[in-house]
Amino acid sequence: MPTLSRRAFFTGAVALAASARMRMALAQSAPGPFTLPPLGYGFDANEPHIDAQTMMIHHDRHHAAYVANLNAAVKDHSQVAALPVEAILARLAEMPDAVRTALRNNGGGHANHTMFWQVMGGKGGAPEGDLAAAIARDFGGLEALQTQFNRAGVGQFGSGWVFVTVTADGKLALVARPNQDTPLMEGGRVLFGNDVWEHAYYLKYQNRRPDYLAAWWNVVDWPKVAGRYAAAKAGTLAI
Ligand code: MN
Repeated sequence: MPTLSRRAFFTGAVALAASARMRMALAQSAPGPFTLPPLGYGFDANEPHIDAQTMMIHHDRHHAAYVANLNAAVKDHSQVAALPVEAILARLAEMPDAVRTALRNNGGGHANHTMFWQVMGGKGGAPEGDLAAAIARDFGGLEALQTQFNRAGVGQFGSGWVFVTVTADGKLALVARPNQDTPLMEGGRVLFGNDVWEHAYYLKYQNRRPDYLAAWWNVVDWPKVAGRYAAAKAGTLAI
């Protein structure tokens, strides 16, 4: 009897271990069409303005969760799974009722954060060339843009984003959106944006959102934003 029990125990343990390995393998194989893009710089690249721990948790956990949940949402909808995320967001009204909210929240989260990592990791300062001229024309200059942008960020109740949108003819505008909503949902294009969810700043700034908004400009990569501006005018800016 003890032998049988021991055998049963070992059989069970082996099965458990196998099932744990299988779950791990499934998680690592990233089932689904959407993947977490790499940051493109170190977690500490935005220190001291945005701390490394915030960057690690924000990218590896928050953004990763949006990607995993987006993949889960499209799992049983192969036609949706075949679309790029910006097309899903532009066509939310056509999406299956059962997953529309999941696509909105997690597709929006994936697109917003993909854009966000691209425009950070820089040295701040000021834009040049075409982009500087467009900011002068549409906002009255960089300082005026920053003042309006920060005011919109402070004024966004709860969680959300502040964006500068760009049209195909290069016109800029300021918009704020709640949650993970994005101008992509209206077929628009985002030049750059800042995340005002508490997870973006709470470890370092706690409730001081205005300080976070002011500090964030020090890590903006203006050459990257200029590249996005050129892509928008060329019609090739996707997310
Ligand atoms: Mn975020």
